[in-house]
Amino acid sequence: MADYHVYRDYSGTMKSDVFYELAVPMDSDIAELEYHKAEGWEYISKCSPTELELAEEGRRAWLECGIVNSKNTKQKKCPSDQSHVTEEYFSDLEVELWHSEDQEVLQSEFNLTRPWFEMPRHEQALIVTASFAEQIRQSGLTGAGFVPVKIKDPDGPAEKSIPQLFALQYQGTKCLRPFRVQGAKNACPFCGHGPLICQECGFPHFSCPECNHSATTPKDEHKGPADKTLILSPPEQREILVLDGSRWDGSDFVYVSGNSELDTNVVSKRALDWLISIHAAPFCARPVQFCIDGMTDQQLQQLDVVQKPILT
Ligand SMILES: [Zn+2]
Ligand SMILES: [Zn+2]
Repeated sequence: MADYHVYRDYSGTMKSDVFYELAVPMDSDIAELEYHKAEGWEYISKCSPTELELAEEGRRAWLECGIVNSKNTKQKKCPSDQSHVTEEYFSDLEVELWHSEDQEVLQSEFNLTRPWFEMPRHEQALIVTASFAEQIRQSGLTGAGFVPVKIKDPDGPAEKSIPQLFALQYQGTKCLRPFRVQGAKNACPFCGHGPLICQECGFPHFSCPECNHSATTPKDEHKGPADKTLILSPPEQREILVLDGSRWDGSDFVYVSGNSELDTNVVSKRALDWLISIHAAPFCARPVQFCIDGMTDQQLQQLDVVQKPILT
């Protein structure tokens, strides 16, 4: 038995070439330092010109802005517990531009934006231009939603002059396989409140809502046999995501962690191929595992569809 309790389960019939984790690097020039090939990041698309080339020409970086205000709506679609949050989306988003007064505002297809300064928020926004949003809409790809972004520009006229921006939302229903528990009950090890990790939707209680104990810990912080805290598997055991095809709604843009700073969401193979074909930038992508066990005939048919190139 492995020496941890909470782990990512890779059992079942897997396909690894149909869905891809898509991440947008903060600095596209050095994306490969954050998204390593050895960890499966096979595709890296960088901005052109690079940030360095822009700086050499005395121009500013690609869209520089920070989140100053946001509101969220929570979806609760768990079949076993209506209090479990399954997906969370922006209902309102305001960003502030940095240094626009003397400068053209350069926008790439994907613009990763984080909260300004030390705002206590663990979220980020994937901002796209109106024309890129329109291209996605026209492409036939499904599951992408767009929330209009309010632009605040204390220094200049950009509020009026830059075209409408949108926050890209992954609206395909979350079908990430829940973490599993082995060698212990799927419950708080201190008071028994359960389940610790919902096996229907994956909603975790890493801090127990009943007794407030932290229920899990990395192995190197575990204090030995007398410590009841459950051990979390090492990051490399959890690295590659697993989607359960039986819960997939057929979308190309599928929710994993939404707008959280974890920056983890997935797209279908045809969506990735399309992004590459139109030279969208910047982004990094790597294959995830997709379990086909228990899929309906309709889901299997749709799985064929999202692997084939879309006609443009
Ligand atoms: Zn649940
Ligand atoms: Zn507890």
